[in-house]
Amino acid sequence: MSQTVVTGDRTIGPLHLGHFAGSLQTRLQLQQNHHSFILLADTQALADHQGDYRQVRQAVIDVALDYLAVGIDPKKSTILIQSMVPELAELSFYLMNLVSVARLERNPTVKAELRAKGNEGHKVSAGFLSYPVSQAADITALRGTLIPVGADQLPMIEQTNEIVRRFNQTVGSEILHECQALLSNTTRLPGIDGKGKMSRSAGNQISLSASSDEITAAVNKMYTDANHLTIGSPGQLEGNVVFSFLDAFDSDSAQLTELKAQYQHGGLADAVIKARLNDVLQNLIAPIRQRRHELAQDSDAILSLLLCGSAKARETAALTLHKVKTAMGMYYF
Ligand code: ATP
Ligand code: MG
Repeated sequence: MSQTVVTGDRTIGPLHLGHFAGSLQTRLQLQQNHHSFILLADTQALADHQGDYRQVRQAVIDVALDYLAVGIDPKKSTILIQSMVPELAELSFYLMNLVSVARLERNPTVKAELRAKGNEGHKVSAGFLSYPVSQAADITALRGTLIPVGADQLPMIEQTNEIVRRFNQTVGSEILHECQALLSNTTRLPGIDGKGKMSRSAGNQISLSASSDEITAAVNKMYTDANHLTIGSPGQLEGNVVFSFLDAFDSDSAQLTELKAQYQHGGLADAVIKARLNDVLQNLIAPIRQRRHELAQDSDAILSLLLCGSAKARETAALTLHKVKTAMGMYYF
């Protein structure tokens, strides 16, 4: 059965391989049989980058270019700019009253992000703390039922469904719908430093628009196994970033299985597995980079496509909001 897919990115720069493996690849598959909305979440990006208006605006164009370059087809997927659908912000405002501050603080993703900010954690904006609500508004306003995400976003889907149940309970009617998360095979791609997930904020990413030299430099920097001191010594796969990347992007799984066995046994140099990964990534990224370069020549065409997508999404969001406000008795004339 065809479903409505809602996804998005709130990143403030071009997309990276973590986005690709965790969510973009699934979006490409889903757009064949389902109707998809893909949000350029500029409003939400500002919650974490107060006042960086120019950077966030530029990111909207960058990420739109990435979508199109990897094969998101605007005839099949509706790409929208979050701030151009004001109904999303309005619904967010109503839903905000149905969630306690304590519950938001307990959201594991919010908690992890606060922890990552260290001493600055207590300075986060009210907008940042409530971004799970904004995500719930995006999903429910666009009537999403299937949400492709990386593992870090699962608590957001859980919280969205909690909000949906709570709202329906308060109005005594099934106005909003629950949704289901869809994980890709790579739920969490590590950064090149192996310290956490690949993320722009951590500066450990390989962009989908990286140059050939940047890819090689990143692969060379990757962590392998500190105890694999000589070619002959047995190597570990666990925590080995190069193998995590090969798992995610090398399509020859039979050969990869053999390589892993050889590495664990001893007799395979780090240089060999890095050379293989370098080839895999160069072949993956080169056509994306080329297509992106071509698309970037006509930024007006990109903007008009986003304008159309946002207008289309607005129709759906306005319908939902009409139902929501009617159920809340918020029509006065
Ligand atoms: P960044 O910190 O680089 O801006 P982010 O983590 O804020 O990235 P989002 O824009 O919030 O990225 O994520 C968009 C989608 O991409 C989400 O579904 C998220 O789970 C997925 N994603 C992002 N990074 C990774 C990763 N390293 N591995 C798997 N999925 C990822
Ligand atoms: Mg981010």
